[in-house]
Amino acid sequence: MEAVRQNIEKLRLKIEDAAQKSGRSPEDIQIVAVTKTVQPETIQVAVDCGIKILGENRVQEAQKKVGLVKGDVSWHMIGHLQKNKVKYAVKLFSMIQSVDSYELAVEIDKRAGMLGKVMDVLIQVNIGREKTKFGAEYEETPELIKRISTLEHVRIKGLMAIAPFREDPEDVRPFFRKMRELFLEIKSKNIENVDMSFLSMGMTHDYHIAIEEGANMIRIGTGIFGPRL
Ligand SMILES: *Cc1c(COP(=O)(O)O)cnc(C)c1O
Repeated sequence: MEAVRQNIEKLRLKIEDAAQKSGRSPEDIQIVAVTKTVQPETIQVAVDCGIKILGENRVQEAQKKVGLVKGDVSWHMIGHLQKNKVKYAVKLFSMIQSVDSYELAVEIDKRAGMLGKVMDVLIQVNIGREKTKFGAEYEETPELIKRISTLEHVRIKGLMAIAPFREDPEDVRPFFRKMRELFLEIKSKNIENVDMSFLSMGMTHDYHIAIEEGANMIRIGTGIFGPRL
């Protein structure tokens, strides 16, 4: 438990450093603490240290935990979302970061509409063109966003990406840079119902590089809670 506190302190220092390098303030960088496989008591420690956003990659796991963590937190869905789980996801999460198809967005629109709510989403881009990863194709993302923007109960808030793994995180920099270019390109179009606020990229291994390249939301699991079992 003490380790979690110390990890968060270290994380904040490193964020400050990376933010400075990119001429920004650390307050502009939001931390999503990734809680997959982590027990609620341990998650609570992070929340008590001021963590405001928790990320889960499975609906079923989130269902078990959401009620057990107290405090001013919101939960984000960061994993691949199956259509048949959308009806639960729109209730549990304040944001779905993993939208990568029009069909999925349509289902979210329908289910959010039934609850009378507008669901915030990020569009996940498969920046490394990896077969093993989900996400929209880079070139197709602007068109996908235009289509999804017509849905009444879905609001696009930005982009999310998982960079390919490279031993040396420096080698991931070009992928993050391409994401930032795409982010700015879409932002400059001022599409109605699209609010390009968040660029969610960077994990424990590479978040410092992601921040330098413009990320304003990072998703940290191991770096807060330690290695997953
Ligand atoms: C697990 C996970 C993370 C966090 O990974 P760490 O390397 O433990 O920081 C971030 N994003 C997604 C989508 C994940 O599934």
